[in-house]
Amino acid sequence: KLYNEVQDLKGNIRVYCRIRPFLPGQNQNHTTIEFIGDNGEVIVSNPLKQGKENRKLFKFNKVFGPAASQEEVFMDTQPLIRSVLDGYNVCIFAYGQTGSGKTYTMSGPTLSSKTDWGVNYRALHDLFHISQSRRDSIVYEVGVQMVEIYNEQVRDLLSSNALDLQTLGIWSTAQPNGLAVPDASLHSVNSMTDVLELMNLGMMNRATSATALNERSSRSHSVLTIHVRGTDLETNTLLRGCLHLVDLAGSERVDRSEATGDRLKEAQHINKSLSALGDVIFALAQKSSHVPYRNSKLTQVLQSSLGGQAKTLMFVQLNPDVVSYSETISTLKFAERVS
Ligand code: ADP
Ligand code: MG
Repeated sequence: KLYNEVQDLKGNIRVYCRIRPFLPGQNQNHTTIEFIGDNGEVIVSNPLKQGKENRKLFKFNKVFGPAASQEEVFMDTQPLIRSVLDGYNVCIFAYGQTGSGKTYTMSGPTLSSKTDWGVNYRALHDLFHISQSRRDSIVYEVGVQMVEIYNEQVRDLLSSNALDLQTLGIWSTAQPNGLAVPDASLHSVNSMTDVLELMNLGMMNRATSATALNERSSRSHSVLTIHVRGTDLETNTLLRGCLHLVDLAGSERVDRSEATGDRLKEAQHINKSLSALGDVIFALAQKSSHVPYRNSKLTQVLQSSLGGQAKTLMFVQLNPDVVSYSETISTLKFAERVS
C-alpha cells in the first residue's frame, strides 16, 4: 500500500474544524473564537456574556483558522483521498450552519480560479495526476455521480435532461463489491475539463429544480461520488475505491413558531437526516454492533463509505460571529458526540 500513512485513530473517523474569516461588514471584535491551538484545540466563548464558565474547550484532530488556504486544507486531506486508489472507500463531509463555509471547503467560492478550488476539485485533480503517474502497471478508470437529497428524495444532478430529476431508488445498482449506490447516471471522466463540464451541469440542474438556488442548496444535501477502478495488468487484479464528498444541508435549527408548511417539512427532513448521520457515526465510534444506516436516505447513500474499512472525515464548519454563538455551540456538540 503506497498511501497508507493515514493513521487510524477513532474507528477511522477524524474530525477537522475550519473557522471561516469574518466577511466584509461583520464586526471583527465580536468573535466567539477565543483561542486556536496548534494541537487541534479551540476555545469558544461569548464575548457579550461575562464569566469564565462561559468558555468552552473543544479538541479536534486538526483546526484550520480563518487564514488557512484551500491548499493547506487539502494537504491534510490528500492522504485520505489517495487511499481511494488503494481500494478504500472514503467519505468526506462538511457540517455546519448555513453561511459557515461548507460549500467553500467542499467546492470553493468559484470554479474559475484554481487557487479557490475546494476539496472536491482538488481531489479529482489529484486522483487524475496520481493515477496517470502509476499508469504503467495499473490502469485506472474514474467515474462520477452527483445526487441531491432533498426531503428524503434522491435526485440525479447529472441527468442530461434537466427536467428529468426523478426520485431515485438506492439499491437498484448492486455492485460486485457490495457498494450500494443510487441508480444515478455514472459518468466516466478523464480530465478536469470533463469534470468541470459535469459540475456545471450539476449546478444548473440544481438551480432549475428550485426557484431560489441559495435557499434550496442550503436545504438539501449534495453528494458527489467518485468511483475509481484500478486494473493491475501484471497480476490481473481489480481494485475498487469510492470517495463520497458531501456538502450537507445547513444544520441550523428552525424556529418552530416561525416555520410552517413546506419550510417545516424541510426542516424536519434535515433534522432527521443529520441526526441519522450523527447516530451512524456515533455507533461506529462506539464500535457498536448495530449501525442504524436505514434511518435516512443520506446514511443509505453513504453507507459504503461509513464503517468497515472505510475512512471518514468530517469538517466542522464555524462562523466566528457572535450572533452565531448558539449554532456554533450546537455544531460543536454534534462534533463532540461523534469524535
Ligand atoms: P455554507 O455553504 O456553509 O452556507 P458558504 O461556503 O457559502 O457557506 O460560505 C458563506 C460565505 O463565506 C461565502 O461568501 C463564502 O465565500 C465565505 N467563506 C466561507 N469560508 C471562507 C473562507 N475560508 N475564506 C474566505 N471566505 C469564506
Ligand atoms: Mg452552501
